[in-house]
Amino acid sequence: MKREAFASLETEALRRDEICSLFGERYQPENWNDWRWQMRRRITRLDQFEKLFRLTDGERRGLILASEKFSVAITPHFASLIDPLDPGCPLRLQVVPQDSELIVSPDDMADPCGEDNDTVVEGLVHRYPDRVLFLVLDTCAAYCRYCTRSRLVSQGELEPLGRRVDAALAYLEKHTEVRDVLISGGDPLLMSDASLDQLLGRLRAIPHIEFVRLGTRIPGFLPQRITPELVKVLRRHRAWLSMHFCHVRELTPEVAEACDRLADGGIPLGCQTVLLRGVNDSVEALRDLFHGLLKLRVRPYYLYQADPVVGTGHLRTTVEKGLELMDQLRGHTTGYAVPTYVVDAPGGGGKVPLQSRTILDYTDGQVKLRNWSGRTYNYPDPVEHR
Ligand SMILES: *Cc1c(COP(=O)(O)O)cnc(C)c1O
Repeated sequence: MKREAFASLETEALRRDEICSLFGERYQPENWNDWRWQMRRRITRLDQFEKLFRLTDGERRGLILASEKFSVAITPHFASLIDPLDPGCPLRLQVVPQDSELIVSPDDMADPCGEDNDTVVEGLVHRYPDRVLFLVLDTCAAYCRYCTRSRLVSQGELEPLGRRVDAALAYLEKHTEVRDVLISGGDPLLMSDASLDQLLGRLRAIPHIEFVRLGTRIPGFLPQRITPELVKVLRRHRAWLSMHFCHVRELTPEVAEACDRLADGGIPLGCQTVLLRGVNDSVEALRDLFHGLLKLRVRPYYLYQADPVVGTGHLRTTVEKGLELMDQLRGHTTGYAVPTYVVDAPGGGGKVPLQSRTILDYTDGQVKLRNWSGRTYNYPDPVEHR
């Protein structure tokens, strides 16, 4: 079901009513628009899924078995966007487990990006010279089945932030080479406004830290969380947001409102997308998503090759396919709508950009270039540097 199928407000209200009835309630906009109400009414149990969706046997088995390894949860907001009848629905594939999650290939890894090796203080990953990744929470509003951090996230693996924050900040104070802190998790926007304000304030008080951003899927899973008060906190500390969207159907009117609030509040917005089989591995799906994001003033930042996380093989597509898709975007649409395609190199190599060959030959100071349409051109290097 496309969002357009919800063209009538009655149909949308009916679906919301069905979701609320799981909790013995009727749909009421003031509840629906309250993010704490949404969090308390997440869909987590098989019997709830049975009532909302026509499940396949694979999904049923996935819900019983896979959920033991990696939690299942979907916010009412996101659940209302999922096609109840189509198991191939691109939103459904991202959050409803399948029994394929039980298949472990020899190449699969628990920690594909090798973060544990670069962990300097619990939850603080220092890999690149000038920037760190700070995992503040290990919970999310909903769980992406391809999560690169499923070894930590939803597992209660991280100590509560309160116990770790002093050690992390002490490390950052001492390491004057760190100028950029990426706050992620789990989802940092599940922190209360007051805790987030305090954390950002303490980071900002460190003179050498000049850039702070938060990685979050809250704008898509729980747009109700983007309140004017939250925007004030983010603005006060000059934070950037790296959001996560995978399909244009996630860009609902509520999400547009949340992005408007953020952009109007002066928060620079980027999007990280994971290339997923059956979800967005077509040029139409990617182009529609990236165009949709630009309309919301969100700059597509990275397109990730899916990490080889344990039990996610069914959602991955090949690098060859990714390169082909990128070739069909570059030059064919606005440069701002084209993210950098990267693979996080297994074993801790960090992000490596992927691009099909544009330098065909480089001899005697002549660079033979291939342009977006496949034609070749020569660039003569400056003579004195040959
Ligand atoms: C992705 C990542 C960063 C930030 O990288 P950018 O390319 O600046 O977005 C920093 N540290 C770690 C460990 C990362 O995985």
